[in-house]
Amino acid sequence: MRPWRSELKRLLLMLAMAAGIGFLLGQMTLTLLLSLLLYSALNLFQLRRLDLWLAKDPTLNQSDPPESFGVWGAIFDGIYRLQNQERKASAYLENIINKAQESSVALEIGVIMINKKGNLDWWNLACENLLGLQYPKDRNQSVTNLIRDPRFADYYHQEKYSDTLKINAPRGNSRMLEFQIALFGEHERLMIVRDITQLHRLESMRKDFVGNVSHELGTPITVIKGYLEAIMDNMQDLDEKWQNPMRQMRAQSIRMENIVRDLLTLASLETETSAKQLESIDILSLLGEIENDTQQMFASKSHQFEIQCAEGVIFEGKRSEIYSALSNLIGNAAKYTPANGKITVVVRRLKKYLEICVADNGAGIEQKHIPRLTERFYRVDSSRSSDSGGTGLGLAIVKHILSRHGGELLIESELGKGSRFTCRLPRSRLIENKTKTAVKKPTELKAENESGKIAAKVS
Ligand code: ADP
Repeated sequence: MRPWRSELKRLLLMLAMAAGIGFLLGQMTLTLLLSLLLYSALNLFQLRRLDLWLAKDPTLNQSDPPESFGVWGAIFDGIYRLQNQERKASAYLENIINKAQESSVALEIGVIMINKKGNLDWWNLACENLLGLQYPKDRNQSVTNLIRDPRFADYYHQEKYSDTLKINAPRGNSRMLEFQIALFGEHERLMIVRDITQLHRLESMRKDFVGNVSHELGTPITVIKGYLEAIMDNMQDLDEKWQNPMRQMRAQSIRMENIVRDLLTLASLETETSAKQLESIDILSLLGEIENDTQQMFASKSHQFEIQCAEGVIFEGKRSEIYSALSNLIGNAAKYTPANGKITVVVRRLKKYLEICVADNGAGIEQKHIPRLTERFYRVDSSRSSDSGGTGLGLAIVKHILSRHGGELLIESELGKGSRFTCRLPRSRLIENKTKTAVKKPTELKAENESGKIAAKVS
């Protein structure tokens, strides 16, 4: 029987007995009142035992509940059961935490927990070796105070944690560390630190090797190409059977020269630190220049160019690099768009970015290739690309240049319809007060003004 039922029975029995005694004594009301008083006193007594127990042991973890019977016995038993479950659950959790901590000690990777205030909560032994953290001295210290490299502070505050950060170890040794942060809970962070010194060394050797080989190949290729050109200038003196091979040799020597040039560009982008001496780049005039060069290079294709850019968009960066990135994109648009295509360049100042979109209505790219386009030597159609003088390095160069300027490249394309390459550069690099205004409609515009600025141009 459920305890409250027997409790009810007990109460009714007590009241019946009190009523019987009262009836015999002729004092029914008094005996009923006395019996209710006794019942309340018993309940108060049990409540007091519960209260004393809770006061003595608020977490209910240390002592067993008081002994009792009836409803109160059932309540105390229920609490006792919950208490036991709680004990087991916390022992289980403690065991897991202990195991996690013990296993993390054996890890060579540093693991740090950072609380929502940005202070260190916990770290494993590897961090003491990698970052020089000391327990308990550094506990509750701000992570940006302990790792003082400004690049770390930028990475930490920008919260673009899908990327990793590679910097030298803060203790001034020659180690190279890679940091990655993940957000969890209430804006707490888990930071992973890896020692990538060896990997970094191998990577530098690879870069040096590619740079040196490209440099060494430069001179022989120039000499071969020079002789081939001299021979071809006197083609009429050449036996007819040699004319076609000569043409092919010259085309391949040009291709080799392009590859070496692009490899050298990539090597210098990878080895040089980002330019410290920044230049003010007038985007409109830069685009005008690139458009002229591209028009000349692809004159036979008679593309229609349209540039939509306000005057006075001045960006701080390395001009030669930004020129190279945009001319690669505009050159590709011209290269991979059949004759009489339309190439549009739109420059927009958004809240966070300066966006430069290069769109064409050319061949387009199948979706599956898009994530790999910025890999070195990746070409969608290698025969088409090398026929058109492509090296497969152009977009890798663009990506590098944009990332050196704090930007990124977005690619959208549809096969047979065209492609759009968007350069997103940080708006913080715009020199805002030089901004004048308005984009002119293509129809309003004729050509460049004296300073070479084009508001919007169709040619
Ligand atoms: P490449 O020197 O071969 O042009 P890139 O790195 O510049 O190398 O481009 C990689 C590949 O991406 C190209 O081979 C080409 O297949 C494709 N691609 C780049 N731009 C375009 C575009 N605007 N339209 C179609 N395909 C393009």
